[in-house]
Amino acid sequence: MSGMDPQSHASGKKLCEEFDAIYFDLDGVLYRGLNAVEGAAETISEISERGCGVAYVTNNASRTPDEVAAHLGELGIAAKPSEVVTSSQVAVDILQQHVPLGGRVFVVGGGGVEEALKVAGYVPSRDSRDCVAVVQGFGPEVSWRDLAHASYLIQGGAIWIATNLDTTFPTDSGIAPGNGSLVDAVRNAVGRGPDGVGGKPDRAMMERTIAAVPGERPLLVGDRYDTDIAAGVAVGIPTMLVLSGVASATDVWRANLRANYLCDSVQGLILTYQEASINGEDYVCGGAKATFEAVDMCVRARGGTRLERLRAADSLKWAMVIQVGLDAFTEGQITLDLDGS
Ligand SMILES: [Mg+2]
Repeated sequence: MSGMDPQSHASGKKLCEEFDAIYFDLDGVLYRGLNAVEGAAETISEISERGCGVAYVTNNASRTPDEVAAHLGELGIAAKPSEVVTSSQVAVDILQQHVPLGGRVFVVGGGGVEEALKVAGYVPSRDSRDCVAVVQGFGPEVSWRDLAHASYLIQGGAIWIATNLDTTFPTDSGIAPGNGSLVDAVRNAVGRGPDGVGGKPDRAMMERTIAAVPGERPLLVGDRYDTDIAAGVAVGIPTMLVLSGVASATDVWRANLRANYLCDSVQGLILTYQEASINGEDYVCGGAKATFEAVDMCVRARGGTRLERLRAADSLKWAMVIQVGLDAFTEGQITLDLDGS
């Protein structure tokens, strides 16, 4: 065993073979802005050929399931609209608990919000007059005027449902303000929060996904702790965090939730997964070792690849949480050193 190639896994299995349904977040996971994440198309096609169910779960409310599937098609990913779940659809599910079908609803956001309302049986309107509710989602054309008219309606007693509360999202040029930041603008005007929120981490989003593409051994893949990993935890399904989007190694270190798997990108699904294991007081992963140095209140990881160092450090963190508490990590008393000499 001692001479074992660090790339090989006891079972030699690819990570995706552990699952029969894999739910993918989109932004930062399969694409970033207009460009596919490297290897995303090959990964999805291999997983599908193995007979594993695939669903695409996006908090981005701006587009319809058809548009999302068409965009994925352009990136070489053969997605069906029925495999796409958007936060607009879930926001409209929630709206039905408050407003009878047929009501006139003010749309803030892209065509995804409008179509989800229409499909359910509401009358979507870009004019706020006579509207009894507001559904607020992201759209690149959303203006101050839209936010102002939404605020006036809500102050007048209209029901307010937000598609999601992501404060940011990644684009080709950098991190941009997300729907949560625009919801906060309305919140500041009206002095309260929305009556309901559709997207991840809300359970309703995952329940709709599980119903669309059921599996006995599902996995959720995402790039954010506060939406993706939290959504998996909320419904009790395993999660994989990828470092191709918003979350950095520092976010992994400061997270108050644990992702079951850490990978550089979705390509990790078609590789064997090198788990970290305990070794005395340290954790090792492949050629990496993570050690807590009490003098500096620092976990230092050395050797192996950067990803192996991060996996070893994350495993040591969660073992230490039992003794020192989670705040020591989330509040930064214990720091991480992955790259020092
Ligand atoms: Mg994302």
